[in-house]
Amino acid sequence: MSAAALPAGWYAASAAPLPPQPALEGRVRADVCILGAGYTGLSAALDLAEAGYRVVVLEAERIGWGASGRNGGQAIVGYGCEMDTLEGLVGREAARTLFDLSREAMDLLRARIARHGIACDWRDGHAHVPIRPRQERALRAGIVEMAERYGYPLEWWDRARLREVLASERYLGAMYDANSGHLHPLEYAFGLARAALAAGVRIHEGSRVTALVHGARPRLRTARGEVEADFAVLAGNAWLRGVAPELESRVMPVGTYIAATAPLGAARATALIRNGMAVADVNWALDYFRLSRDHRLLFGGRASYSSLPPPNLRGTMRRRIRAVFPQLSGVPIEYLWGGYVDISLNRAPHWGRLAPNVYFAQGFSGHGVATTGLAGRLIAEAIRGQSGRLDLFARIPHAPFPGGRLLRTPLLVLAMAWYKLRDALW
Ligand SMILES: Cc1cc2nc3c(=O)[nH]c(=O)nc-3n(C[C@H](O)[C@H](O)[C@H](O)COP(=O)(O)OP(=O)(O)OC[C@H]3O[C@@H](n4cnc5c(N)ncnc54)[C@H](O)[C@@H]3O)c2cc1C
Repeated sequence: MSAAALPAGWYAASAAPLPPQPALEGRVRADVCILGAGYTGLSAALDLAEAGYRVVVLEAERIGWGASGRNGGQAIVGYGCEMDTLEGLVGREAARTLFDLSREAMDLLRARIARHGIACDWRDGHAHVPIRPRQERALRAGIVEMAERYGYPLEWWDRARLREVLASERYLGAMYDANSGHLHPLEYAFGLARAALAAGVRIHEGSRVTALVHGARPRLRTARGEVEADFAVLAGNAWLRGVAPELESRVMPVGTYIAATAPLGAARATALIRNGMAVADVNWALDYFRLSRDHRLLFGGRASYSSLPPPNLRGTMRRRIRAVFPQLSGVPIEYLWGGYVDISLNRAPHWGRLAPNVYFAQGFSGHGVATTGLAGRLIAEAIRGQSGRLDLFARIPHAPFPGGRLLRTPLLVLAMAWYKLRDALW
């Protein structure tokens, strides 16, 4: 997939544009230099600028050009891995603290939208839906576990209850979370950027960092300039391309795609999802969908582990939409786009420091809409001298993908083939 060739689709077509920011020219000094103007980098930049730091953000493309401007918009409490996985990695007590922090991430998201007046179509409500009895059993057990171990309320909806709000026969029920929800991803990214700019952050677009030089004052180089700062923050997701190989070996870019149908009209759209919630199934290669404000179905799915666009993507997406909503079979797809999710081997967040003055956050594993805000905040706290909460995440062990850069994709494809087969059969 040539990322630059992929339009950001309906999001770019529907968001009020942000004025372009100038590329970096020459040498600049700052307190903090941040690589990447997605949610993670902008969140850190905003907090630091509000605390009085001089912050420069270097963005290779445009603000929100990465996953933050392309994603499914589903803001969900928790992380990309199960809580059982985190318990195994850091112990039960620390896992409980990490879960509480994911709730804080959701509060932070809502608070920032309110405080900065970010118009990004926030809607409450999210459902995870099972297709197989095995998945239903796991979700129902998960609801009990989340209540007993984490004090987090989730509802189980049986098939009839779900059918009252979702016009699909595909699912056996739903695990409903009233506290999670969804938003317009690019408008949220632009809103964070506007707040950061207003707080004094300098953002340079078209300024790819080609090298990070470690030292007492790290330096980030671009083709036409260099920033020297007390601290550097790497918030480049799956796009670093050689700047920090030790980080890149621990995430795998996985392509995922979203289709926006033609507008369905208010009545037809509302009849599909009456309560306006976001929905995601729990297959390994999952489908996720919701409605847009102009009454389209935004439907995501079709993971791809190659760097080429999947063959007949449009036909595949049409088939997947039909499997959920056969009543939409004649409706055209108007926009189709994709992006990379940065998955870590254990799907747990990979946040921490590369050196005492170089911080990073990656490995959101398809679960970054809410947690990126927290990652940026915890990095800002650490730079301000309070590293306790970031250190909780830095304790999570992360192995490189087996096979290195060349073989990690074929090995993952094999693993994925197994999980897809399992979802198809059991
Ligand atoms: C199609 C899709 C659907 C998704 N759906 C969901 C969802 O529904 N819910 C959910 O929670 N998560 C979802 N995600 C994941 C979520 O979008 C990400 O976890 C999150 O946006 C990551 O934010 P970020 O700021 O870390 O990275 P990004 O938004 O990718 O930002 C990184 C930025 O760094 C820049 N950059 C990289 N390298 C350099 C360099 N060398 N120099 C300068 N700049 C550089 C890039 O250009 C980019 O703009 C989805 C992702 C995709 C792609």
